[in-house]
Amino acid sequence: NAVGGEVTLDDLPLREDLRGRSPYGAPQLDVAVRLNTNENPYPPPPELVADITKAVHTVAEELHRYPDRNAVGLRTDLAAYLSGATDVALSCANIWVANGSNEVLQQLMQAFGGPGRVAVGFEPSYSMHPIIASGTRTEWLPAPRRSDFSLDVREAASVLREQAPDLTFLTSPNNPTGQSIEPDELAVLVDAAPGLVVVDEAYAEFSDRPSAISLLAGHGHKLVVCRTMSKAFAFAGGRLGYLAAAPAVVDALQLVRLPYHLSAPTQAAARAALRHADATLGSVALLRAERDRVVPALAAAGYSVVPSDANFVLFGRFADAPRAWRAFLDRGVLIRDVGIAEHLRVTIGTPEENDAFLQIAVDVADKEL
Ligand code: PMP
Repeated sequence: NAVGGEVTLDDLPLREDLRGRSPYGAPQLDVAVRLNTNENPYPPPPELVADITKAVHTVAEELHRYPDRNAVGLRTDLAAYLSGATDVALSCANIWVANGSNEVLQQLMQAFGGPGRVAVGFEPSYSMHPIIASGTRTEWLPAPRRSDFSLDVREAASVLREQAPDLTFLTSPNNPTGQSIEPDELAVLVDAAPGLVVVDEAYAEFSDRPSAISLLAGHGHKLVVCRTMSKAFAFAGGRLGYLAAAPAVVDALQLVRLPYHLSAPTQAAARAALRHADATLGSVALLRAERDRVVPALAAAGYSVVPSDANFVLFGRFADAPRAWRAFLDRGVLIRDVGIAEHLRVTIGTPEENDAFLQIAVDVADKEL
């Protein structure tokens, strides 16, 4: 009974290209075992909760003022984290931050894409890439991966030379399929692409492969590496995404970012979370070990499993994936139907959650494969 509730979308002067679209979003259901959005299943430890609370309390006393528009402290801390993780000496000038890596990706498309410009991505991949392209009116050209979901680098390079996109999106490890791209293969693609190449490394901490950041020194005029604190850092609710690139790329994003886009509590909480990085990232080894337990267990139950370098696994082949998704849900486990025929994706959870999932998976295999 909201005021104005009689007005429908059709009554509004909405952009033609947005008519008939549905918003992005996995179902947020209240289920005992939620393995559907690739979060870290371990909540922040009490010391981290206390540190965030203290940090936010301090900035609360200054909330009448706008936050640091350039988030210099947070960017400096992230540069230190990435330098330690990759052995590439990065500084604040190399880092940009926003409310989740989705916002970073949107700012990239606003600055380097837009009307009259083209972006290429290799599908299936992260489904927000084409949605953000659409929102910024960047033409999206999907290119295929192999039928086993790996990337054919030679084929991809020839697509990039032929299509000459302004922007190329590469996801490594790739969501929702799990495979990574080796840095030397990435270098081939960056050389082939005439425009900017964005490597979306949301799941990098779970991967065995070196980061694309190792290529920044030689390819800084056209390489951007996008990261997030939503996954390995167990900070999905904090909304903090970032990128590493040449300082000029960071300068370009200043032209499209909203002033004061990153709130003072967000900046303070993220800096507190980074101070506890060692403890939080400790869970990554555990999750990788669990992944390496879940994959063979699924195979033993009769599934075909796509090799994964991330904290999720794509598996099948179901006679009817939406019906199989429902079968898991009916038994109390929420996983993800990513729209790939015959396949579903499961996020690696705690050992107890994985046990619950695997037990149900045996039962579902009997009926749904
Ligand atoms: N990139 C990839 C590949 C992802 O899977 C996700 C999260 N699903 C994101 C970016 C966005 O994450 P966030 O906005 O939480 O940083």
